[in-house]
Amino acid sequence: MRDSCLVILALLCSLHATFARFILPYVPENVDPPLPYQDPAFQNDVDDVPDDYFDPEVAPGLFQGDMAMNDEIYNYWRVGIRWDTFPEKLWKNRTVPYVISPLYDASDTVTIYQAIRTINFMTCVKFVPWNGKSKDYLLIWPIKYPRGCWSFVGRFGGAQIVSLEPPNQRGPNCLGTEGRAIHELMHALGVFHEQSRWDRDKFVKIHEENIIPKFKSNFDKQSLENTTYSFEYDYDSIMHYGAGFFSKEKGKPTITAKMPGGKRIGQRKGMSKGDCLKLNDLYSCFDNPKKRRKYYNVCQYMGV
Ligand SMILES: [Zn+2]
Repeated sequence: MRDSCLVILALLCSLHATFARFILPYVPENVDPPLPYQDPAFQNDVDDVPDDYFDPEVAPGLFQGDMAMNDEIYNYWRVGIRWDTFPEKLWKNRTVPYVISPLYDASDTVTIYQAIRTINFMTCVKFVPWNGKSKDYLLIWPIKYPRGCWSFVGRFGGAQIVSLEPPNQRGPNCLGTEGRAIHELMHALGVFHEQSRWDRDKFVKIHEENIIPKFKSNFDKQSLENTTYSFEYDYDSIMHYGAGFFSKEKGKPTITAKMPGGKRIGQRKGMSKGDCLKLNDLYSCFDNPKKRRKYYNVCQYMGV
């Protein structure tokens, strides 16, 4: 207990020192990320959603639940985005400067920091505290409108928000464990939802009849012509929807695994082996044989 207090204290001191060196960027409470469609009823009125339905990852009403897209990206995405066509969406030098909002309390800051540390350890991507100068960086912030867990996909340019709603009376929201933070940070690194793969129908069944009608497009998939995948379909991915996402009624699944005996999907504990390999592959961490061995082993041993 004493040790963990000391760790938190040391972390707070280093954060304080970091923030003291430069002025924090201004972040308005009401953020209006460019969206492919606006859904004011759901987006601005989240409080009306029954509590047993509320899931901060599916609540914001953005593209596929928690991804903020601009029109350009959305249009390309409609035909399947190609990362080789959009190299600018990858973070330069595999480096992601970040700022954690001082509005988070100590334990939430530690959870976010753990998520960052996990990605830093499992991949060659490096999250580094923003030096106050880099043009592009992530602002990890408890945005109020739209609240919930959401992120842009890939590097957007400039100050880029990752919204992680802290725990409240409704529950742990995005910061019960480091898992949901990892999910949103992976979007920010350029990873989409696993079940949007073009070949997903071989692996999962979508139960259209159980999906809230206006969210049916959240279950769209990419076209084969425009995407490539180096890894097998991954039920264990932290980027996979859970069975009840966007369901009309509790207990009625919207997506299930096509597997004898079924398979649990939608874990938010940590990166799966596949997530880890995918992220390392996306950022060319396997180019160097020594690093390839290192990160393959890390993924093998640490992947959920
Ligand atoms: Zn997501």
